[in-house]
Amino acid sequence: MSDTGITPLLQRVRQCDLCRQQLPQPPRPVLQLDPRARLLIIGQAPGRLAHQSGIPFNDSSGDRLRDWLGLDRQQFYHSGLVAVLPMGFCYPGRGRSGDLPPRTECAPQWHPPLIEALPDCQLWLLVGRYAQDYYLADKRSLTERVRDQQPDARQFCLPHPSPRNRFWLQRNPWFEQQQLPALRQRVAELLD
Ligand code: SF4
Repeated sequence: MSDTGITPLLQRVRQCDLCRQQLPQPPRPVLQLDPRARLLIIGQAPGRLAHQSGIPFNDSSGDRLRDWLGLDRQQFYHSGLVAVLPMGFCYPGRGRSGDLPPRTECAPQWHPPLIEALPDCQLWLLVGRYAQDYYLADKRSLTERVRDQQPDARQFCLPHPSPRNRFWLQRNPWFEQQQLPALRQRVAELLD
């Protein structure tokens, strides 16, 4: 899809109010998309800071994710290299133990046409349980998915980089010691 072809689609996304009634604030879809992107990051939903700025992963989770991938902010926010599609594009609000799950209306509505507009994406990063449950549709735990995957898998699973996940990272040091170096190298080659 050309740049001009993607514009009407993105305008429709920006005007979406499909689940307005369930959101704590008026819809503000937060995503990053350009048909030239080579790396696709499918995350969860924008947190409060990303919602306020309108910039995906513009928070401490994003800082950790960039560190995992070996990307600085300039590279990460180069839409011609990296696309970011959360499972829910709008901030879902807070629950008793953190942000609420992404709205389930969003991915079925918007992911198919948007992903179709990304013909050059050679690596998908499924970040966190919601993206993995949706796209893998298997019964494995997140730990099993992250641990038991091929380093060259087209759909590569990551834990969510939220600071709330630090205990998972402490319990599973193999992730940072063994998987991240290979992933960084793959991302560098892909975006070179
Ligand atoms: S979360 Fe998705 S489906 Fe809901 S209003 Fe925002 S863009 Fe539309």
